[in-house]
Amino acid sequence: MTYKKNDIVHIKISDISAEGTGIGKVDGYALFVKDALIGDEAEVRITKVKKSYGYARIERLIKKSCFRVKERCTIARQCGGCQIQALSYDEQLRFKRNKVRSDLIRLGGFDEEYIDRIMEPIIGMDAPWRYRNKAQFPIGTDKEGNPVAGFYAGRTHNIICNTECYLGTEENKSILDIILLHMKKYNISAYDENTGKGLIRHVLIRKGFNTGEIMVCIVINGRDNESEYIRGQKELLNEISRVPGVKSISVNINTEKTNVILKDEVINLYGSTVIHEVIGGIDFAISVLSFFQVNPVQMEKLYDTAIEYAGLTGKETVWDLYCGIGSISLFMARNAKAVYGVEVIPQAIRDAYDNAKRNHFENVKFFVGKAEEILPEFYNSRADDEMKTPDVMVVDPPRKGCDQNCLDIILKMRPNRIVYVSCDPATLARDLKILISGGYELKRVRPCDMFPHTVHVETVVLLSREKVDGYISIDLDVELFESKEGRA
Ligand code: SAH
Repeated sequence: MTYKKNDIVHIKISDISAEGTGIGKVDGYALFVKDALIGDEAEVRITKVKKSYGYARIERLIKKSCFRVKERCTIARQCGGCQIQALSYDEQLRFKRNKVRSDLIRLGGFDEEYIDRIMEPIIGMDAPWRYRNKAQFPIGTDKEGNPVAGFYAGRTHNIICNTECYLGTEENKSILDIILLHMKKYNISAYDENTGKGLIRHVLIRKGFNTGEIMVCIVINGRDNESEYIRGQKELLNEISRVPGVKSISVNINTEKTNVILKDEVINLYGSTVIHEVIGGIDFAISVLSFFQVNPVQMEKLYDTAIEYAGLTGKETVWDLYCGIGSISLFMARNAKAVYGVEVIPQAIRDAYDNAKRNHFENVKFFVGKAEEILPEFYNSRADDEMKTPDVMVVDPPRKGCDQNCLDIILKMRPNRIVYVSCDPATLARDLKILISGGYELKRVRPCDMFPHTVHVETVVLLSREKVDGYISIDLDVELFESKEGRA
């Protein structure tokens, strides 16, 4: 049966897409249904028809999914940040686990029964709200001319006014309210994307959950006047610094017409240039520009899983590829002989060294560059270096996964174990297929929910070398030879 635009069909929603849209099938034809959830049964109107799938929206909800819950946030749908807030948390976890499972089977080519046997339960959050330690609020102007802070609606650049996001900290609202009030009092304009005029563009707030330290950075479109970055600056700093925990206030200057929020120039106006966060007993310093995982509670659980999978005893040599500020590297370094991190952003490597030094690690080294370039260089130049034959390799790439050259060099270096930390199950599955055909076996899989209420899911995977390799068999030969000698 072929369908056309405006057809009304009856559908049951059975899945959710990568963008958070409900998916159901009519006679094998897949429809992406906006705002529909797993378990919903509805009459939908087809809005767009493609060859093998189409789009639709709900005309009449016939049976509400038993997994539907009341959204805590009133603007969840417009904001688009929480695509699946209306799904009960247990069902969110089930959906994410299934996504990892089906990608491994469908895209990775793994056997269904095998995956079901080795896959471990998803690590959920006990309290899945207020987990984000970082928020970046755009500042705009409403119809009455008042300054507002909020979120960009869906994929647009319209700001929805909202200073209370339940994924962020409670202090966000207090700090934003102070800034908005100050803007009103001093008649300070918000930046206007269309004209490129106006002063205040964004407010970035970060908090160390285990230290209580808070950092505020106001992104401005140049200096307000000769003596101040922002009119009434002293009063503003005074007000913000009264919020308990505030340890650092700065401005970031961004005068370009761009979607990029932060530019390189940060000027500290109050307190320290960094805040601290302690995770797993390691003290991290976080600056305005540095990368840090946004969910510290789950970050610790994720890293603990990676450490467990790495099977460290204190004797191992470990490479940590895509290491960021070296957080996984330092977690590993406590139980390894040596850890080498690789990361493409130079500032992240500087942060990694600072973190290593502050925490008295002497067995870590970091390299700036692309993993797929740095590793082959090592491999080809350092003939008999231990670094060439690591026991463990950890990879934690961005969503697009590992570069083919990176996978090739991993296979050449033949670590005993590979721990793959992934933020996209589809690229994970693709990369695993390559590593498996290179002689590795998939041993363990554990999804972890770092971003409740969104469609994202992280996964930690352990691969180990399938066959007894050259080195081990040579060792065995030597042993046999020696024992024969001994007997003789
Ligand atoms: N492991 C870190 C960061 C993971 S995010 C942590 O847990 O905190 C992925 C990191 O990979 C980012 O810091 C990004 O800058 C880096 N990256 C992206 N492409 C890279 C490449 N080709 N080689 C090395 N690092 C890369």
